Amino acid sequence: MAGLPWDWLLSPWMLAVLGLAIGSFLNVVIHRKPIMLERAWLGDVAHYLQDGSAMQRALGATAQRVSALADVGRVLGDELKALPPLTLSRPRSRCPQCGHAIAWHENIPLLGWLRLRGRCAGCGTRIAARYPLVETTTGMLFFLVAWHFGSGTTTVVYCAAVSLLMAAALIDLDTTLLPDDLTLPLIALGLLAAWRGWTPVSLPDAALGALFGYLSLWSVARLYKALRHVEGMAEGDFKLLAGLGALLGWQVLASIILLSSAVGACVGIYMILARGHGRSVPIPFGPYLAGGGVAAMFFGTTLTRLWFPA
Ligand SMILES: [Zn+2]
Repeated sequence: MAGLPWDWLLSPWMLAVLGLAIGSFLNVVIHRKPIMLERAWLGDVAHYLQDGSAMQRALGATAQRVSALADVGRVLGDELKALPPLTLSRPRSRCPQCGHAIAWHENIPLLGWLRLRGRCAGCGTRIAARYPLVETTTGMLFFLVAWHFGSGTTTVVYCAAVSLLMAAALIDLDTTLLPDDLTLPLIALGLLAAWRGWTPVSLPDAALGALFGYLSLWSVARLYKALRHVEGMAEGDFKLLAGLGALLGWQVLASIILLSSAVGACVGIYMILARGHGRSVPIPFGPYLAGGGVAAMFFGTTLTRLWFPA
């Protein structure tokens, strides 16, 4: 892998600092993306409810029911319209308690939180330790990627993938949603990097990785549904593993599934035993897949040699 002209920018310490800043942006994504998605879906629902012929077609609704459903749609639509617009860049972050607008110096990754001793400058409400934790973890992973893979294109690709995986894992943990806006770019990134030769994975290996990644979890989910008559996994999980397969090649899939199932099973058993977490309550699988994927980034080839000794 040839070094890039901006070698020094890709040194581990520079990337650690960049990772802190990206982690800070990921906090915004993790918080806002599910809200933006849910509002968009509710907007569709509001629109759909007001579509009389659709209601007639889908529900066989009578004229009276059609107008009642349209009223519900109008109320929902008005409620959505009354909300201030929300994007990843606007509005500025504010304290959810007192509305204090967060100043740039309070927003410096990790340091801002430490300087405020984890409390809002306006009202003193605790700021969750998760914010600096996400920043520090992203910074640490960027450091490790640069340290392990050197200052080449692989490091750039893997840092981008780590960012997508962090956001996907935490959104899934919070909401059990795995947005397409994160999993599909991971698939595209993996295929593009393989095609352009930015990573050591060949394009056929990446394409098969995406295909087998999707199909393996899809078949597990179908089997689970046939046996237990409940959904165990969702499509987002299939797409996430497809992304990891595209990024790291099909050979690594077995290691990823093994690593994430082992961690997932331990946490699941712990939750059932220690917290009385109902067995039927779905435990999101995304965070484990993402964690298994990051582990496979570093140890995948070593583990793969155990399955497929050359
Ligand atoms: Zn406050």
